[in-house]
Amino acid sequence: MTIERTAWGSMPDGSKVTLFTLSNARGMRASISNYGATLVGLEVPDRNGAMADVVLGYDDLDSYRRDPYYMGCIVGRTAGRIRDARFVLGNMVWSLDRNHGEHHIHGGRNGFHTRLWNAEAAETDDGPAVFLTYECEHHEEGYPGKLFFKVAYTLTETGLRLSFSGTADSPTVVNVTNHAYFNLGGHDAGDILDHTLELNASRYLECDASMIPTGGILDTANTPLDFSRATEIGARINDEVLGGSGGYDHYFLLDGIPGELNPAARLYHRDSGRLLEVLSTQPGLQVYTANFLPDGLDGKAGAVYGKHCGICLETQGCPDAPNQPEFPSVVLRPGEKYEQTTEYRFSIG
Ligand code: BGC
Repeated sequence: MTIERTAWGSMPDGSKVTLFTLSNARGMRASISNYGATLVGLEVPDRNGAMADVVLGYDDLDSYRRDPYYMGCIVGRTAGRIRDARFVLGNMVWSLDRNHGEHHIHGGRNGFHTRLWNAEAAETDDGPAVFLTYECEHHEEGYPGKLFFKVAYTLTETGLRLSFSGTADSPTVVNVTNHAYFNLGGHDAGDILDHTLELNASRYLECDASMIPTGGILDTANTPLDFSRATEIGARINDEVLGGSGGYDHYFLLDGIPGELNPAARLYHRDSGRLLEVLSTQPGLQVYTANFLPDGLDGKAGAVYGKHCGICLETQGCPDAPNQPEFPSVVLRPGEKYEQTTEYRFSIG
């Protein structure tokens, strides 16, 4: 179990950025930058013990600062789309950064993913960890309330645990996720259509043409969104039922017990034997098959990425929850604590 700290460039104001690399007894390594609290690399063994980095990304800070695809970063104050970039809370209309046509997405242009977080690293009983904190101001990207937010990445014996917590000085909304693109063959292994996916979810959110929830909750049974049994991602990805998004880009509601660390997803890559199990306290997850990654995108170590080269398993609250009273609430009030955990466990399947 070791922790390495590497100087990783600086922000325009001269603040120094650090890359932390955690390793465990199995030889797994996780690299995390305090720019965007970003997961930059995650090396995991295959069935023969050969290591590969299973998350897409870039070699340097500048590439992350230019990246419009949210590679590996923490997305907040709220992940996903918010209709018309507005919501009502406390009899006030809050207008958010309109960074997605008429709508708001992923916390705004200057959301959590663009911020330099304070960071410390330490050994813990569960493994080496990086603790990142960010104080998000009242009105930042339009959101109400000052929010004190923390993310801890812990490299345990089995994988990576993300612990999120936050408190606010006045009522606000919080819905944070990590936006890693996984490819269990290795980040440079091409598309993920040969991976199988199993989800602990029998319902998903209906969306309109702008990919924002209508409020409808639909059954996955007998649709291309039924992953109740492990199914190859490519098998139904072109089905017209998936709509204009060019693949999976849907929010699934988990069948588990609210607030418990429930099984969420199992992603398996037959050729390497790598199995990723995602567990989360969140009510659901956005499954996004990198439909908008452009072909020819330069990635880490000379790799070239394109459409479907990764899959994001974004455990989070429902998109547009601030405008949808029927969805689990994402409101955080003073005196309350936002607490969520997501674990990525790796084994050989
Ligand atoms: C969304 C996609 C979006 C992507 C941005 C995902 O969370 O569901 O629609 O294009 O993030 O990289």
